[in-house]
Amino acid sequence: MSAVPDIAGALGWARERIEQMDARVLLRHALACPASRLVAWPEQRLSDAEWAAFQHMVERRVAGEPVAYLIGEREFYGRSFSVTPAVLIPRPDTELLVELALAHFSAQPRLRVLDMGTGSGALAITLALELDAADVTALDRSREALWVAMANAARLGASVSFVQSDWFGSLGEERFQLIVANPPYIAAADPHLEEGDLRFEPRSALAAGASGLDDLAEIVGRSPQHLESGGWLFVEHGYDQAFAVRGLLADAGFASIASWKDLAGIERVSGGRWLGRG
Ligand code: GLN
Repeated sequence: MSAVPDIAGALGWARERIEQMDARVLLRHALACPASRLVAWPEQRLSDAEWAAFQHMVERRVAGEPVAYLIGEREFYGRSFSVTPAVLIPRPDTELLVELALAHFSAQPRLRVLDMGTGSGALAITLALELDAADVTALDRSREALWVAMANAARLGASVSFVQSDWFGSLGEERFQLIVANPPYIAAADPHLEEGDLRFEPRSALAAGASGLDDLAEIVGRSPQHLESGGWLFVEHGYDQAFAVRGLLADAGFASIASWKDLAGIERVSGGRWLGRG
């Protein structure tokens, strides 16, 4: 299409190349306008710059880049988080970790929370904003991820302490009442890593050794040294890892071990309570 189109024309052009829903999201971003304008004003002509920006985004989408990276944001638990290719794109499944934390700790007068491998900061920031009493620490090994998370915390008005640490490596002796983690848990040879959005996400946030359990094993195994007696650990894991993760929790001496299902009915989070070694 050589002439600069109107909104309806631009959407029609894009729909031949990418999903209709993605086309609408990208056009809204290119025009910096609410969704209602695309519907209410289909005959509005794009500027040259808007059309060029939109075409560029559609081409990148055709090449597979995730929409969240193209527009630089993704919603999680009702808030918009900035994302870059340095961080995993937050998933709705991970909201289950938030629900579990709220169910167990809403009534707590004071609460120390640790989010391990925070990425965009979605979990840590949501917990800081949803749990008034929470004093939240978030760690990540990646400095680039921490920059993204810190910017999100500042923009959303959340008070979170950020630490650069390879899992518990740089954390010292601190103990928490709640530890949450959405670590990498995909097997390194899993063909899904070469499909869809996953191709563009940081491999270090996705893959964890031959079975996908390397990081889960480290987190579960070392959490007892960082939990107060009576504290909880909740970890997200793969669709077929619940049994193995419950085993890791049992080996580490956790009590009240359980798994919880995600929106698709798949056991997606497992956890347990640390009652101290007596
Ligand atoms: N749930 C993600 C996926 O399978 C993986 C996230 C992770 O490894 N923590 O796409």
